[in-house]
Amino acid sequence: MSNNRTFTMIKPDAVRAGNIGAILKDIQEGGFKIVAMKYTKLSAEKAGEFYAIHKARPFYGELVEFMSSGPIVAAILEKDNAVEDFRKLIGSTNPADAAPGTIRAKYATSIGENAVHGSDSDENAAIESSFHFSGTEIFG
Ligand code: UDP
Ligand code: MG
Repeated sequence: MSNNRTFTMIKPDAVRAGNIGAILKDIQEGGFKIVAMKYTKLSAEKAGEFYAIHKARPFYGELVEFMSSGPIVAAILEKDNAVEDFRKLIGSTNPADAAPGTIRAKYATSIGENAVHGSDSDENAAIESSFHFSGTEIFG
């Protein structure tokens, strides 16, 4: 996986609120090219696996329940400096702290139900991308 890719999910809250289109528009206007995308749903087991790094945290159970509560959009995005620039575009984890205009400021409702995921490093972008996509599903 090259350095200029990141992985995102539009989370179940944003899908339920009808914000898939608006969020994809923000992503594309932010200069990101979608190189892979699917509409899917995580089982509780898969959500638990995806967020295994947070297993010891008090919010883990709630997070797994939320992330498996409805469909998501998973995507791989390409741009120079993708990981860092995408974290800027989405804003802080807690929407109350997210900069105005960011995706979380606009669409998240709480620190848990915060509309989108964004990878936090190139290494995790690669791991998370291959969790959801095989090589033949990526069109770079
Ligand atoms: N989360 C939560 N409560 C918290 C912190 C995080 O429910 O106090 C959830 C939230 O959905 C967040 C996810 O767990 O997006 C992963 O947490 P992380 O700290 O990695 O935040 P992110 O990288 O998504 O900004
Ligand atoms: Mg994170």
